Amino acid sequence: MLSVVLPSYNEEKMIPIATQRLGGILSGEGIDYELLFVDDGSRDGTWKEIQRCSKEDRHVVGVHFSRNFGKEAAMFAGLEQAKGDCVVVLDCDLQHPPEKIVEMYRLWEQGYEVVEGIKEDRGEESAFHKFASNSFYSLISRATGMDMGASSDFKLLDRKVVDTLNALPERNVFFRALSFWVGFKKAEVRYRSRISPPSPRRRCIS
Ligand code: UDP
Ligand code: MG
Repeated sequence: MLSVVLPSYNEEKMIPIATQRLGGILSGEGIDYELLFVDDGSRDGTWKEIQRCSKEDRHVVGVHFSRNFGKEAAMFAGLEQAKGDCVVVLDCDLQHPPEKIVEMYRLWEQGYEVVEGIKEDRGEESAFHKFASNSFYSLISRATGMDMGASSDFKLLDRKVVDTLNALPERNVFFRALSFWVGFKKAEVRYRSRISPPSPRRRCIS
């Protein structure tokens, strides 16, 4: 089974859309799956929507945070709860194109243990955002000795890798860099990120 972990902050509108879209793609491909929404202390009806979708669709499960802890915490909570033989982490606003999951899953079937989603473009961003994120990634790349510039949180991880990450005592971590760091047999899938309308809650560097 494949688990899809979806960190969700103020995404009430996206919960049913993501459920439908992912369900269509994965069922169509004959892939058994669960959708694990992690409500990161949303202030809108995100948790209500997760509960509603979960009642209607046996594939949907949810985790609910008492307050907003940030996307990193939401992703790690998802990894801890995921039951799949492999796990994909995907933005709930579907900026990571969900149809690419199938490509990732097929590579996993061929024996790859980490499939990295690599951004071909950076979507539509302000010059300042571009400058800030370029500076940030050049710093991280220097620190880790890996080229992190095009990396993203959109990844597939084999159960072995998920168990390894869950067993790490360090909790204050950067998911994107950590999956590079742990090793394992890697493949890449290239994608173009969808442009989303700017909203006041955009706080993650991506
Ligand atoms: N998100 C989250 N907690 C937060 C902020 C964001 O779980 O505190 C989720 C959000 O719902 C989305 C993903 O993380 O699924 C990426 O966030 P966002 O779209 O705001 O970032 P960007 O598009 O700038 O990468
Ligand atoms: Mg987004």
